[in-house]
Formats: sequence, structure tokens, C-alpha cells
Amino acid sequence: MSRCGLFAALVPFAAFAATPSEITTHYTDVAKRLTDGALADQHSLDRLEFLCDRIGNRISGSPALDQALAFAVDQMKSAGLRNVHTQPVKVPHWVRGTESAVMMAPVERKLPMLGLGNSVGTPDGGITADVVVVANFEQLSALLPDRVRGKIVLFDAPYQGYGRTVTYRIIGASRAAAAGAAAVLVRSITPFGLRTPHTGTLVYTQGVPQIPAAAVTIEDAEAIHRLTAQGVRVTVQLKMQAHFDPDADSANVIGEIPGSEKPEEVVVAGGHLDSWDVGQGAQDDGSGIMATLEAAGLIQRLGLKPRRTIRVVFWVNEENGGAGGRAYRDALGDQGLHNHVAAIEMDGGAEKPIGFGLGEGGHPRMPGSDTPPAGAPPSKAIEFLRQIGSLLTPIGANQIQNNGGGSDIEPLMAAGIPGLGELSSGAHYFDWHHTEADTFDKVNPQDFRESVAAMSVMMYVLADMPERLSDLQ
Ligand SMILES: [Zn+2]
Repeated sequence: MSRCGLFAALVPFAAFAATPSEITTHYTDVAKRLTDGALADQHSLDRLEFLCDRIGNRISGSPALDQALAFAVDQMKSAGLRNVHTQPVKVPHWVRGTESAVMMAPVERKLPMLGLGNSVGTPDGGITADVVVVANFEQLSALLPDRVRGKIVLFDAPYQGYGRTVTYRIIGASRAAAAGAAAVLVRSITPFGLRTPHTGTLVYTQGVPQIPAAAVTIEDAEAIHRLTAQGVRVTVQLKMQAHFDPDADSANVIGEIPGSEKPEEVVVAGGHLDSWDVGQGAQDDGSGIMATLEAAGLIQRLGLKPRRTIRVVFWVNEENGGAGGRAYRDALGDQGLHNHVAAIEMDGGAEKPIGFGLGEGGHPRMPGSDTPPAGAPPSKAIEFLRQIGSLLTPIGANQIQNNGGGSDIEPLMAAGIPGLGELSSGAHYFDWHHTEADTFDKVNPQDFRESVAAMSVMMYVLADMPERLSDLQ
């Protein structure tokens, strides 16, 4: 945009135009107030503790999710947000049921497992079959049909970053089914194991038989692989009662800080309220929604009045459908969409924040996915974001990457709205992700407070700065 320059120099900020460097100068003091406020807070984790310990995990369609919705409405109101309301969303209701995996031969022992989300179940008597191990899809394709038909295929793909390795969890079942397999086991998508299975969603390919699929631990995947590599026959019995109940009524939860000058223009920020049906959904994504709410509450408490509206959204059904993100986008209409200047998602855990990643329209990236091609030219939006990021240098959260976003804001990004993902160090996030171990104790209070600081500064400046981030792409 060329609206900056002379006019802005004469009347800084009064005229809603700025250069990137003016951003830093203009917002240094307010960023310090927000950061100091976030770091001094002693109660910022109370809401997350309640959500984790008193409500617990909350998969779409569950009674716990209904409790979490009511709690979220109360908490948005008590944080001082306005226009707090729910937005109805129909969600799928997948039920895990009783499940088990037992190695029958060469030795009999239980295998810790978690059925993959959206998987079908097994027949009542289970599926008992020999295991065929492959490390990747190429090895599966190279097997003769006889080797796969009626067998349990185990994908023992070593972790090569979440974005890359999760492919086996998402489409492995249908790939193996197309080759004639009866069921699938997937090595848990994690860099580290304490014999903990990690669930997560699968997506069946249309026209291919739907077969049951479950995650096993790194340790058991490797043990089975070692045995079969020596020609030892490994037999597993898999029993799963997984099924879908009818779709359930649920909702996104929404609250706002109305803009003081351009209330129709919106910076939307949040994460997802639902979780998997294991652990407490503490880091994924209780930490993201509660850090976003705390960030907005802090802006309110400090009496700051951003020019545009800051809208906090707790989206629903991120984990096994994405219905909340789609419903939010669909309810906007063309004008509402145009009025969105930026979307921010925090769904990578509240470990130490390092900055933000900007996904270009239509190409959001998951946390932990590969970096973009080297040499990609920085867009004007990136220049502005780097200036905002520099305000977070005191807490080391000043990195701005040309790569980011989140599942809930993907529909907005696909429509051209710039989407930002809050980035954390990710030191342990995928160790706990989608497991029984994603519990409140994993959230470090200092890291959480720094995440609140990072979110509050980014939300506030994007909502207040002269330029619309969406005009800068
Ligand atoms: Zn998540």
C-alpha cells in the first residue's frame, strides 16, 4: 500500500496509515505493559486447571464438552468480554468404546493401544491375524497381494516431523485396505515414547473398504518389526467397539472486545474447545484457548481500546471433523469475511513461545510441518509482522516465519484471510499430543504467561495498527 509516507509522517497514526518501522516505535510502551501484565499474573492458569481437573477431556458430542461450553461462556463473561454467545454447530459423535490389542504369538502380551479417531470397530470377536510390517507406503506397494490380504498391516514409520509422518495415521488405513488388509496398526506419531499410544483422526478414502485402525507405541512397533525382520510370525488380536452415534448439537463460543473506531473490522483469535477422549486436553488445546482468553482479558483490564474488534473464538470439533471452523466461516457471509483483517490460532501448546507463523491464503501449515522453500520473498505483511514481533524480543518470541496457521482458521485462510499460528518451542508438545499424558502438569506457568504476552501483543497491535494486515499480502 502507498497510503503511508508523507501524510503519516505529518500526522502519525491519526490517519490510519503507518510504515512498518512506525509500528515498533508506536507500540513499544503498550507492548511492555501487556508483557509485564501477563508475566506478573498469578491466576492466569486457574481457568485451565478447572477445565482440566473438573471437566476433563471433551470429545465432540460428549457430556463433558457440553460442560466445557457452559464453562467457557461464563469465563468469557468474567474476563470482561462483550457479546458473549454461542454459535450452533452440528458435530460428529465418535465413540471409542472398549478396545484392546493383544499379541498372541510368539509371546502373549497386551499392547497398549488407542483406536484412531473416526475408525470403525472390529466384529465382536475381534480380528486376529498375522502382522505385516512396512516402514512406508512404497514398501506396502511392493508387497505381493497374498502377503497383505486378510492381514494386519503395521506402519512402523519413524517420526520425521509431525506434518510428514502423520500421513500414515491419516490415510494408512485406506492404503492398507486397498491392498486387502483386515486392520491397521500405526506406530504412534511422536518423537519420543514411554510406551504411550497416541490417538488422532484418520480419514477413510471413498470407495475403499473401511477397516479398523489403532495406534500402538513406538516400543511395540519396533519390537514387532524386529521379530518379523527375523522371520518370526507375529499374531495380534485387535478388538474395538468404535462407532458413531448420531451427530450432536454443539457450538463455537465467541466473545469480543468491540473496536473503538472500526468495530466492524475484526481480528479473530482462539483455538479449539474440544479435545481427544484421553488425558485432559491440557496442552491440546486447553492451553491455547485459555491463553487467548487471558490475553484478551488482559487488554480489557489495562483499559486498552483497540480500533478494531478483537474476537475470541473457542472453535469446536477441530480434532475429528473441523465443523466449528467451517461453521464460523460460513456464518460470516461475504461482507463479514471481508471485514476480517487477520486470524490467529494458538494450537501448538503453551510451551515457550518463539513467535508467529503466517500462512499464505489457502496454504495453512500444521505446527511441526516442513519449512517453506528457501528464498520465498517476504510479503509486505511479513515486514509488518516482523515489526510487531520485535515488540516481543524481551521474551524471545520475535520470530516471524513464512509458514503457519491452524485447522480452525483454515476455512478463513482458504478464503484469503491472513492466518497466523502462534509458535512455541515445541520441545515436548508431540511427546504428549493426543495421549493420556496431555494433562495440566505439563503446562509450565512461566511459559504459559509468556504465551499470554505474545498473544496479547499480536492481537492488540493487529487490531489497532493503521493498516489492515489483509491489505498487505
Ligand atoms: Zn489441537
